[in-house]
Amino acid sequence: MSRRARFLEALGITAEWLPRTRADAPQAQAVSEAVAVGAPVAEVAAAVIDDAIADGIAEPVTVAAQAAAPVAQAAPALETAIPVVPAAAAAMPVSRAPVEPPLLPAGPEPDSAQAGREAAIAAMAWPALDAAVAGCTACGLCQTRTNTVFGVGDRQAEWMLVGEAPGENEDLQGEPFVGQAGKLLDNMLGALGLARGRNVFIANVLKCRPPGNRNPEPAEVAQCEPFLRRQIALVRPRVIVVLGRFAAQSLLRTTTPIGKLRGTVHTYEGIPVVVTYHPAYLLRTLTDKARAWEDLCLAREVHDRAGAGA
Ligand code: SF4
Repeated sequence: MSRRARFLEALGITAEWLPRTRADAPQAQAVSEAVAVGAPVAEVAAAVIDDAIADGIAEPVTVAAQAAAPVAQAAPALETAIPVVPAAAAAMPVSRAPVEPPLLPAGPEPDSAQAGREAAIAAMAWPALDAAVAGCTACGLCQTRTNTVFGVGDRQAEWMLVGEAPGENEDLQGEPFVGQAGKLLDNMLGALGLARGRNVFIANVLKCRPPGNRNPEPAEVAQCEPFLRRQIALVRPRVIVVLGRFAAQSLLRTTTPIGKLRGTVHTYEGIPVVVTYHPAYLLRTLTDKARAWEDLCLAREVHDRAGAGA
């Protein structure tokens, strides 16, 4: 299949996905090499989730072309003129993506003990922050975790990815996004010309695994978020890509569905935020893969504009 056909397929423009075989592996390798030498990002779009299929992460499925219209605008949007977006700007004007004001008030004021704890965390350098997370007992999740999952990557990265919380494998290994979802995330990073540990820092809202992968409790988020806030302040990325509904709603303090949070540039502590689906969700719902690619294109757009204004 030609590279163009693969790209269109990734965008959901074709009528259906065609099963790929292991014989396609050389093509996947060629795409990776194209990324490595700086080929246009759009050209390697098809590799992102297709490679998950080729790698056996997910089964090919038949999909309708319903995503074609909105997604078909994604690639041209890379050339769309957008106002410069300085990294520290409070609002992030993007011509195709309206900026939303803060969605909800910040919630109740913390009591003095909590305020003191948050102030202490907000002043920590990396070593102290690392140690504070490793020894944290601020919520009940400390009793069931195997390891804390601090985060991984380049601490001076221009990109930051934020997920929900460690799962079983992450808890065992102490690293975010391992396993099948991690492989897909790595493919997504590759399509952006990034790699784990190279110009990207990956973290979760929660540093300890909720038992049985249940949804985190608001009190757990309240205790743990100061760590993430400090990580973001230390990394100071140009753009934050938030992965999944829970992380997006926690970070943006909203109950708005992820479908409505996508396609808009939000801000967190003055840094632009783009919302997309969690890789684990994409493994189950391949019909949304083209939308995820659209989100990554928007994030790339915001990143590049922030760089232009730096
Ligand atoms: S989830 Fe966060 S707040 Fe709770 S024990 Fe772990 S590190 Fe501490």
